[in-house]
Amino acid sequence: MSHILIIGAGGVSRVATVKCAMNSQVFTKITLASRTKSKCDEIAKFIKDRLGVEIATAKIDADDTEAVAKFAKKIGADLLLNVALPYQDLTLMDACLKVGIPYIDTANYEHPDTAHFEYKLQWAKNDDFKNAGIPALLGSGFDPGVTNVFCAYAQQNLFDEINEIDILDCNAGDHGYAFATNFNPEINLREVSANGRYWENGSWITTKPLEIMMKWDYPKVGVKDSYLLYHEEMESLVKNIKGLKRIRFFMTFGQSYLMHMRCLENVGMLRIDEVEHNGMKIVPIQFLKTLLPDPASLGPRTKGKTNIGCVIKGIKDGKPRKVYIYNVCDHEECYAETGAQAVSYTTGVPAMIGSMMIATGKWSGKGVFNMEEFDAKPFMDELNKQGLPWEIIEMDPDESRVVE
Ligand code: NDP
Repeated sequence: MSHILIIGAGGVSRVATVKCAMNSQVFTKITLASRTKSKCDEIAKFIKDRLGVEIATAKIDADDTEAVAKFAKKIGADLLLNVALPYQDLTLMDACLKVGIPYIDTANYEHPDTAHFEYKLQWAKNDDFKNAGIPALLGSGFDPGVTNVFCAYAQQNLFDEINEIDILDCNAGDHGYAFATNFNPEINLREVSANGRYWENGSWITTKPLEIMMKWDYPKVGVKDSYLLYHEEMESLVKNIKGLKRIRFFMTFGQSYLMHMRCLENVGMLRIDEVEHNGMKIVPIQFLKTLLPDPASLGPRTKGKTNIGCVIKGIKDGKPRKVYIYNVCDHEECYAETGAQAVSYTTGVPAMIGSMMIATGKWSGKGVFNMEEFDAKPFMDELNKQGLPWEIIEMDPDESRVVE
């Protein structure tokens, strides 16, 4: 019996809200609030028409801690799911502290003026959450999120010690545009155009943006160019996975996406500082977001599959072991179910499951937690029930799916 307050009304929110409504035995009341109320109303109408479930909607400024706290108290929310933007993580965590309700998000804090993300400022609130007697669950999307849970499941059930992890994120969907991003363009382009980074033998190694590429054979999708990026789940996994010697993250990109991104970067369109234009100040990457297709509008036109998973190598019963745990998702099936494409779906479903773990007390604690700090099993069971089934391939310890 929980009243969930969901903040943000983009593609990820749409899926998380639909999935909460499909689990109304847990989420007995749902309030969806965002900057643009009409987007909340549109999602509410979709849910009423499809599922017959009523949800409440409201306009809210997630940058305003006082306003959110007052609103959450007024409606009697039991937990808050942040699926707005990473810029709002700290204000929304503070709002939860003021009201004394659990906090869940899908992406770690970023300051709008610096293209840099890390857990430091969110982890720094650990004592505040401990003292308030409530949990904050960080990064309950797919990556971060399910990838952390895959690693935790391997650590808890499949290995005595884990030594190497490669996280492999493939979106083989085609939306038919020469260039568009699958989730918020500003956040996506800041991430992809940054330096790459991976962790080996206790230190971080920095690479130039997209410097390292391999051709990886993704089950049920095929061979795709996969580029090494820095990704936020590595920051917590190096702390929480015992015996780890190396962790890397790879994501696939098509040539058209990369060509457009490099061109936009070369002409200054990815700049995040203000520039003077015809007597007014604009931030180029924000202007670019206005020109690009809204990721939420890609749903009806995207075909193909995603495959996101982890290849994990370590020791079991004194012998080397290697497993590949992954999920495959179909863009058109996701759209038929929720009105959103697979990138929103693979994020929104785990956002709901993380909220469900907290609401039902299957995951409980006081303080700030990353996903791998809890028992992976109940979350893995829900993935199978809620539309993101996973598979495990037992690999030969020396086998690689890299195609030369
Ligand atoms: P969108 O840009 O589509 O949606 C963001 C929503 O937040 C919009 O409705 C927006 O309002 C709202 N919003 C922004 N600022 C405020 C504010 N100050 N107050 C209230 N509402 C606000 O993003 P996505 O749905 O694609 O992504 C949502 C989150 O999911 C992001 O944090 C993203 O980084 C994360 N993500 C995580 C992934 C993972 O696997 N872990 C993968 C993909 C995304 P408006 O409609 O007015 O613009």
